[in-house]
Amino acid sequence: MNKTITIIKGDGIGPEIVTEAMKVIDAIGQKYRHQFIYQEVAAGGNAIDQYGTSLPKESLEKCLNCDSVLLGAVGGPKWDKTDPSIRPEKALLSIRSEMGLYANLRPAKLFPQLSEASPLKESIVNQGIDFVVVRELIGGVYFGKRSTTTENNELIARDEMSYSEHEIKRIAKIAFETARKRNKNVISVDKANVLDTSRLWRRVMEQTAKDYPDIQYTNMLVDNTAMQIVKCPSQFDVIVTENMFGDILSDEASMITGSIGMIPSSSLGNGTRGMYEPIHGSAPDIAGQNIANPIGTILSAAMMMKYSFDMARESENIEAAVHSVLNQGYRTTDIMSSGKIKVSCTEMGKLIIENL
Ligand code: NAD
Repeated sequence: MNKTITIIKGDGIGPEIVTEAMKVIDAIGQKYRHQFIYQEVAAGGNAIDQYGTSLPKESLEKCLNCDSVLLGAVGGPKWDKTDPSIRPEKALLSIRSEMGLYANLRPAKLFPQLSEASPLKESIVNQGIDFVVVRELIGGVYFGKRSTTTENNELIARDEMSYSEHEIKRIAKIAFETARKRNKNVISVDKANVLDTSRLWRRVMEQTAKDYPDIQYTNMLVDNTAMQIVKCPSQFDVIVTENMFGDILSDEASMITGSIGMIPSSSLGNGTRGMYEPIHGSAPDIAGQNIANPIGTILSAAMMMKYSFDMARESENIEAAVHSVLNQGYRTTDIMSSGKIKVSCTEMGKLIIENL
């Protein structure tokens, strides 16, 4: 197969981790006789420096004309005071919305080799952590009207949150379809005791659940979910929720698995084309030191193969190689523990390729 991948290395550790992921993709291409063609584009802080915008037109066009996008991370303190209309993160919001990527899937899976890194008690961790947060990505309060005005001599800020039936229905379908490939359990998270958007969310979710009689379906309030994730994470299989709740809960979910550097994510829309990226940011504190963990990005490439390229075997090969390297005791600094062998970002990439 021939696949064109748009590459956004981004800022901070982005170039280091994406370079390792590209080497793994190339090795998979050689092993399984696929041709992966890269088109590298600028986005984020580096694009602001070069072009005065976080997302040059050509970069967006290449995202819209490819088989999938692989992203490192964008942003950093250098651009913290930049005008909000061109901030690095703005590039990601624009790409997601222009590509119609309304579903963000983040697996929260504990690597047994790293169970000590989880902040939860051993008795909880031993029950297993393996669920996916399906987050609505291009609606809700992050995309609503906003304003800051002066009224009665004080500042007042407003953010509008809205959801329409079709926006809820399409993410519901993604959640139920995802559950069909897993343990057939969906928990929809809302705040229906307070918010109108949540009451509509619940109504559409419950209607859609009727089309999936094979899936066990329940509702859970967001505050309770935040507690249940740390109290009994093994109860979850697929969590589906709106944009802001998903933003917060998926960070909580990734935290309990140990290292932020290990977790991939995918953003999908109606077709097979998606955007794949590790869940962490650009880690400016360790950028340029060759100590970043590239596994989250390498597993994002594995997700790309499974969900966008229909290459399940290739994807599983990458996942198995990551497990082998961890079993052999190799660790980057962020997941290092006593008795293990510390390796750099490039060494970790090389070891994963050797284990493919
Ligand atoms: P961060 O995820 O970049 O870093 C948090 C901590 O985790 C840091 O100590 C960092 O060194 C460590 N870390 C993160 N990824 C790691 C890896 N692969 N290997 C080893 N250690 C790793 O979060 P932050 O510090 O809050 O944000 C830094 C910048 O990244 C900000 O400008 C933020 O806006 C941006 N950001 C971008 C994205 C994205 O591009 N999708 C997401 C989140 C944050």
